[in-house]
Amino acid sequence: QEGRPAYRRILLKLSGEAFMGAQEYGVDPAVLDQVAQEVAELSALGVEVGIVIGGGNIFRGAGLAKGGMDRVTGDHMGMLATVINALALQDAIERTGRFCRVMSAIRINQVCEDYIRRRAVRHLEKGRIVVFAAGTGNPFFTTDSAAALRAIEINADLMIKATKVDGVYDADPMQRSDARRFERLSFDEALERRLGVMDTTALVMCRDNRLPLRVMNMFAKGDLRRLVMGEPVGTLVEG
Ligand code: UDP
Repeated sequence: QEGRPAYRRILLKLSGEAFMGAQEYGVDPAVLDQVAQEVAELSALGVEVGIVIGGGNIFRGAGLAKGGMDRVTGDHMGMLATVINALALQDAIERTGRFCRVMSAIRINQVCEDYIRRRAVRHLEKGRIVVFAAGTGNPFFTTDSAAALRAIEINADLMIKATKVDGVYDADPMQRSDARRFERLSFDEALERRLGVMDTTALVMCRDNRLPLRVMNMFAKGDLRRLVMGEPVGTLVEG
């Protein structure tokens, strides 16, 4: 007997970029299915799971603006990109046999539900996985900030940022072999040392609302489950 999960309700942030897998663009079906499987497992353990998904595999407002586009228009395109990813994830999750709802911060209610906080919480209570799409619904924000916002709104016990690296390092581990991974650090440290955990807005939201964050590798099989069972996976940012 493995014991019970350490968390009642979590908010998982998945970057859009990770969904590309080995591709240059779009969604890799194999990655999608793996992620859906791991998320479904958490839900089967009885953990309530909310997910915020990025859109960087399709469009980023800042990138489009560099090419000359109006920034706000670019951000609208980026937010719509997250809706595309959310629909793909919903489909993959439902193929595992769990129930899932997409709720968008921008009204596109022929495609998915509008985000209504109390309704989202009800879905979670019923064991449905909720995918929060379209970020915060506002330009100039990121999906990391949206994740912090939704996590706080739904009273999540923990926010998990699943990325391509297995935690927070004191230097870029891709560039420096002597880079050291933190077991834990404070939000102020992350802010002062500009460790690139998340943008400032997201870090400050977490800090001021006492929401702990774990940064982990989304491709390490079984890590998500271990984390939810209370094992010290990745880097803990808190306080
Ligand atoms: N975006 C936005 N407001 C939000 C969240 C996202 O305008 O609240 C836009 C922004 O253009 C961003 C894009 O959506 O670049 C995709 O999100 P993000 O870059 O955070 O995705 P990720 O890096 O996680 O793939």
